[in-house]
Amino acid sequence: MPKELNLNRVSMPKQGPKERAQNFREVALGYEEKHALDEAVRCIECKKRTCTEGCPVGVDIPEFVAALRDKNLPEAVRILKSKNALPGICGRVCPQETQCEEVCTLAKKGAPIAIGRLERYVADWELLHNSQNTPEIAPPTGKKVAVVGSGPAGLTVAADLARRGHKVTIFEALHIAGGVLMYGIPEFRMPKNIVQAEVDYVKSLGVEVKLDAVMGKISTVDELLESGFHAVFLGTGAGLPMFLRVPGENYNGIYSANEFLTRVNLMKAYLFPEYDTPIKKGKKVAVIGGGNVAMDAARCALRLGASEVTIVYRRSRTELPARLEEVENAEEEGVVFKFLTNPVRFMGDDKGWVKSMECVEMELGEPDASGRRRPIVKKGSEFTMDVDTVVVALGTTPNPLVPMTTKGLDTTDKGTVVADPETGKTTKPGVWAGGDVVTGSATVISAMGAGKRAAESMDAYLKQQ
Ligand code: FAD
Ligand code: SF4
Repeated sequence: MPKELNLNRVSMPKQGPKERAQNFREVALGYEEKHALDEAVRCIECKKRTCTEGCPVGVDIPEFVAALRDKNLPEAVRILKSKNALPGICGRVCPQETQCEEVCTLAKKGAPIAIGRLERYVADWELLHNSQNTPEIAPPTGKKVAVVGSGPAGLTVAADLARRGHKVTIFEALHIAGGVLMYGIPEFRMPKNIVQAEVDYVKSLGVEVKLDAVMGKISTVDELLESGFHAVFLGTGAGLPMFLRVPGENYNGIYSANEFLTRVNLMKAYLFPEYDTPIKKGKKVAVIGGGNVAMDAARCALRLGASEVTIVYRRSRTELPARLEEVENAEEEGVVFKFLTNPVRFMGDDKGWVKSMECVEMELGEPDASGRRRPIVKKGSEFTMDVDTVVVALGTTPNPLVPMTTKGLDTTDKGTVVADPETGKTTKPGVWAGGDVVTGSATVISAMGAGKRAAESMDAYLKQQ
């Protein structure tokens, strides 16, 4: 007899908007056992696993959900981690609504299984019960691999190759591993102890992590290959900020989102003076852009004590690239959205600090190359907004250091590394690449998917050598 559909999706407990807008603690509190079981029991274990097909790393979703429903948590962890080394991270920041949950059979009825929340529950259970089980690791192959960058792409390729018996060393430019998860995404969305636990898990597979190691400065890719590494993976991300390039953009008080978020998250400016990182605590803050990065910057500014935070976006609400959940969270906390608006110049005071910005109103024309409707300036629509802090969150491109110092590595005119989308192979023999350095700024799970595909291809190459 077919199972009766239960369409009561269990909501995520959260801190209230007023309370959370004043602290950096995690907003989403996570399911308790009862919530998780109530949600897991809704899964109808479809024959055609559209959910698994929708997951870029192919997690066996119905199996891990069934193990959770049967209260066999160690088995749920095992199934999850056999495909995804970073479930606590993905359960928090992956856009499930456009991946596994979008294609879940119950999505047609408006109530997909909350796969991300269940993934987070299982990962957090493992951490809480300190029950990390190390998966099977193949005998040593004698092959050495260098991974440049320790973001989700680098960590995934490293974990998958280590499990296949290869000796992996990660070289990371910063003093801490984790990439954007550590330096960009704020604590209230991505607690750093979770990232650290998942980095530690990758290390427990035998991966060595060398910090403060800027490739292209301390050594080149060619030198790595000459010094005994049999293959190299480039997962250096896209950490170079883009600017508006309008007059006055150099005034004090105008930050790139990269600098602003790195100061707040990595260098813990929100705990100043306990941590020795200063940041301007603006009262009237404007954040330019409409992606996840803009939402994070706006919500950080609010938590630092701003009385007015405005997101200024040149298209309309429909085109906002940020996750809907994050837009709603920002609005609930009091962030104001000014759509169809673009800054054209900044004005400063006699001490060189920004004090206002001139904006123009926009209207939408025909779709452009991105598929979104092109914003067009409305003539005579100039107006001025008072601001004392501005955060520019317009996107990022890859840092050119590694491509510039690597002979034979082709890049596109956008500065991304050219790599085969199926295998991650670059134009340089023995070198693979994946994640934001290839696609430009994208998502955690797409970087992980690229890491998985590259690991497959690198493993085949290493076995042939
Ligand atoms: P990164 O995470 O950028 O890691 C690259 C690493 O390489 C860094 O640690 C860097 O220090 C290191 N590196 C760079 N150059 C060198 C060098 N020369 N030598 C050694 N190391 C080097 N995605 C989502 O899915 N959901 C979200 O909610 C989300 N929110 C985001 C919020 C913010 C503020 C930002 C900035 C991004 C967000 N993203 C989100 C995007 C996501 O974080 C990235 O797509 C993902 O981290 C890319 O992974 P990666 O491994 O390619 O690169
Ligand atoms: Fe369960 Fe949805 Fe996957 Fe079907 S598609 S097995 S309901 S998670």
